[in-house]
Amino acid sequence: MKDIRSYSLPELTDEFKNELDLPAFRAKQVYKWLSDGVSDFDEMTNISKELRNNLSNTYYISVATIEKKLVSVYDKTVKYLFSFRDGETVESVVMNYRHGYTICVSTQVGCKMGCTFCATGQGGFSRNLAPSEMLAQIHSAQRDLGIRISNIVLMGMGEPLDNYANVLKFLRLVSSEDNLNIGMRHISLSTCGLVDRIYDLEKEKLQLTLSVSLHAPNDEIRSRTMPVNKRYPIDELLKACRHYVRATNRRISFEYAMISGVNDSDECARELGQRLKGMLCHVNLIPVNPVKGTGYRKSAVERQQSFIRILGKYGITATVRRTLGADINASCGQLRRKASEEK
Ligand code: SAH
Ligand code: SF4
Repeated sequence: MKDIRSYSLPELTDEFKNELDLPAFRAKQVYKWLSDGVSDFDEMTNISKELRNNLSNTYYISVATIEKKLVSVYDKTVKYLFSFRDGETVESVVMNYRHGYTICVSTQVGCKMGCTFCATGQGGFSRNLAPSEMLAQIHSAQRDLGIRISNIVLMGMGEPLDNYANVLKFLRLVSSEDNLNIGMRHISLSTCGLVDRIYDLEKEKLQLTLSVSLHAPNDEIRSRTMPVNKRYPIDELLKACRHYVRATNRRISFEYAMISGVNDSDECARELGQRLKGMLCHVNLIPVNPVKGTGYRKSAVERQQSFIRILGKYGITATVRRTLGADINASCGQLRRKASEEK
């Protein structure tokens, strides 16, 4: 069976013509239904029953089925546990900001990178998601909530640049006019720092925002919390970031989860300031979300303020990320883990 939601309109048009002898307008009709988020060929009411049957013998429509849904009582943030055809599950979160709805999409089932503070990283890796399965998360959320999503962050489960080809295909599909038409300027991609792939991404010249999960000012601390740092040390990573900024003229965001007593001293802030000085960038400070079994605790507010002040001296702007969905474990990986513990 072929995964019809992973096609672009030109690809589907070609295949319909060459293999099914169908005219271009049929491909367009079917594609319109797919981008409206249908989950079954029978919903395509302007297509004959016979053709719907034929299509469903050759193709399947990727769907993200809602297994669990949690709604924050504080801020209406919604967290989903979705399942796919093979029963694998991932999490997505929908946040309502003033400028519209933002969805946090997963790109893999699990993750290979093993960051010590991350619930997903602690659970191991199962498989990559197809482009269609990333799109399906958006469709399911939109249909369930009766909304249009305007912004996407690839900050759910998984390392997007470790599933490079599928993520690139997803980005092209989701931003295309025939599809969900969410512009690259409304998309952020977060990576733990796969340096070779950052150079590849740079060549694509996309208008998206690159977020880099730094979380430490030096190799000693970073290697302790992020094993990927042993493969790609900080100097190499920041060299790639500087190169990326020059080539794309886009500002990079650095994510910095503040962990009490681990990476939040004034000395850490000064070292970070030294390293980032002169780069077109912004630092997002995130009070670490305590994950069971890690023993990590959030830094005090006083530490956050001190970081902002010290980074400012080096000309680096930093802000503390607003916490949404605090009551529903909105940081990814935690709901899936809870669900598997309950089984
Ligand atoms: N794999 C990618 C994207 C998914 S993780 C990456 O690591 O960048 C999305 C963000 O959540 C990353 O910045 C990650 O470091 C951060 N994160 C993971 N666990 C966290 C936790 N317990 N508290 C705060 N941030 C966390
Ligand atoms: Fe993977 Fe990102 Fe979690 Fe690290 S923080 S384990 S890269 S999902």
